[in-house]
Amino acid sequence: MPKGQSSIKHRVRAVILLVSIVVLLITATAFVTYEVVSFRAQLVQNLSTLAAVIADNIAAPLAFNSEETAEEILSALKAEPDIVAAAVFDREGKFFASYPLQLQTNLLPARLEDAGHRFTADALIVFQSVIKEEKSIGTLYLRASLQGLYGRFWRYGAIGGTVLMGSLGVAFVLSTLLQKRISDPILALTTAAHKVSQAGDYSVRAPKLTEDELGTLTDAFNRMLAETQANHGRLAEQARLLNLTFDAILVRDAQNRITYWNRGAEELYGFTQEEALGRISHELLRTEFPDALEQLEEKLRRDHRWLGESVHTRKDGGKIHVASRWTLDRGAQGNHASTLEINTDITERRAFQAELERLVAERTAKLQETISELEAFSYSVSHDMRAPLRAMQGYAKALLKDYKDSLDSQAMHFLDRIARASNRLDSLIQDVLAYSRVAKGEIALHPVDLERLIQDVLPNHPEFQPPQASLLVEKPLHAVLGHEAYLTQCVTNLLGNAVKFVPSGVIPQIRVRTERLQDRVRIWFEDNGIGIDPSHHDRIFEIFGQVHSEKKYGGTGIGLAIVRKAVQRMGGEVGIESEIGQGSRFWLILNEAKT
Ligand code: ADP
Repeated sequence: MPKGQSSIKHRVRAVILLVSIVVLLITATAFVTYEVVSFRAQLVQNLSTLAAVIADNIAAPLAFNSEETAEEILSALKAEPDIVAAAVFDREGKFFASYPLQLQTNLLPARLEDAGHRFTADALIVFQSVIKEEKSIGTLYLRASLQGLYGRFWRYGAIGGTVLMGSLGVAFVLSTLLQKRISDPILALTTAAHKVSQAGDYSVRAPKLTEDELGTLTDAFNRMLAETQANHGRLAEQARLLNLTFDAILVRDAQNRITYWNRGAEELYGFTQEEALGRISHELLRTEFPDALEQLEEKLRRDHRWLGESVHTRKDGGKIHVASRWTLDRGAQGNHASTLEINTDITERRAFQAELERLVAERTAKLQETISELEAFSYSVSHDMRAPLRAMQGYAKALLKDYKDSLDSQAMHFLDRIARASNRLDSLIQDVLAYSRVAKGEIALHPVDLERLIQDVLPNHPEFQPPQASLLVEKPLHAVLGHEAYLTQCVTNLLGNAVKFVPSGVIPQIRVRTERLQDRVRIWFEDNGIGIDPSHHDRIFEIFGQVHSEKKYGGTGIGLAIVRKAVQRMGGEVGIESEIGQGSRFWLILNEAKT
């Protein structure tokens, strides 16, 4: 700081002094030049006038060859101390008279020149024609010393030097006073800026010392400081609020280095801010991500956010489960600038959840056990019921056959009702048994050739074939991964329904085909039957889900429930597309058998 202070002061002073010196030098040079030039001109003027006067006076003595008179006239030059030599030459250029009388030869001209003047290094020389009756009768030579000129020159130099020194002294004093007006406001600004940068004290203000541009600059600087102070206050308030949360909040840069670590993070993980800042977050917390970090970062880049759960390790080595929310903060150029990460401790929740899952699994197992027991029970009950039922059927048939002559018509009618009811009960029991068989036990899946399977079903079912019905199998059918017996049950039930639910007088037409869906196969069973209203499409797959009159079409309402159960057990799906009067298209989706 002191260096800067002296620098600006000295610079301002140096500039003022430099300007003063230059101005003085230019002024002095101009003045001296002017003086020298005008002095020389005046010298020439004086000497020429003197030469003309003397030439005029000396014309007579020269004409009459009166040397003494000439010398007397020339001796008048004593009055002009600058004149160091004078000589008169006749028409032929011969020496006639001189001043002083004993003139050193080196002061005489080497040769006579035309009338006029010229300067040598130390003298002004004038030649003047001596005229008598308008004829040149000789030449006057005058030599004036330039000592006077040089003396004057040196005097000017001395005066100029003295003035220069005096002016510099005055300029120095003035510059010292003036520079304060410029440097003091700048120094005040510098001092304030120094305090802000060193002590981070935004309450400092620079004093406004002038009303000029520097004053404006000081005002702007103070306003900027006030704004910064307000922003700083707001930021401090926000930071304080962020520190109130229980959540761990951290910010990491593009290299995952921690740049912000709130108090919640300190409490949750046990690392202080000093320990955490600058560290790679997932290294510090030994994070176990649900997926590879690259995948999470890819998702973050794509969606600008990521939500998920991770496992972190605290400073004391304890593991905690956290619900993590990442938000990508993009820089001005849209690049990955930093990531805001908020972590909530869900360790207790996870433990509670795990306990809940354990309880659910325990109860499900118990329930499963009970269901299995119930299924076994209903299976054995159904199975055991068939023996007395068959006895009822047998005796009813025997009565109808052997006693038809001795029984009256009403008794025969009642017997017929008994026989029909027991037949229906038998069908029901058989279907319930079939459903139970499909519903329980482990099954193994194998590739099944559907074309062959349908071929094997046909001999036992003349109702699927002409003339009673027409069955079109669109070959080739894709092989599926399934269970032979379950699939036979499904095909039999679906074809059975297709020939059963047709308007009277219409010959059932069935089409079976397959289509590939990636690595699965959809098997279609399409008929020209009475169709089913879409509102019943879910219901028909439930047990006893009949939607058409049982009296008219028969059936137990279990067939499609068996189909659905069997398909589910084979890892597939079942569905229907149908409208009333438009036929039905049932479909099964099963895994494709890879050959
Ligand atoms: P059901 O023993 O009555 O055939 P399902 O479970 O096989 O029992 O069928 C349930 C109900 O779905 C049937 O009662 C019938 O109303 C309807 N349904 C099944 N298949 C067809 C079909 N191909 N065309 C029209 N309705 C059908």
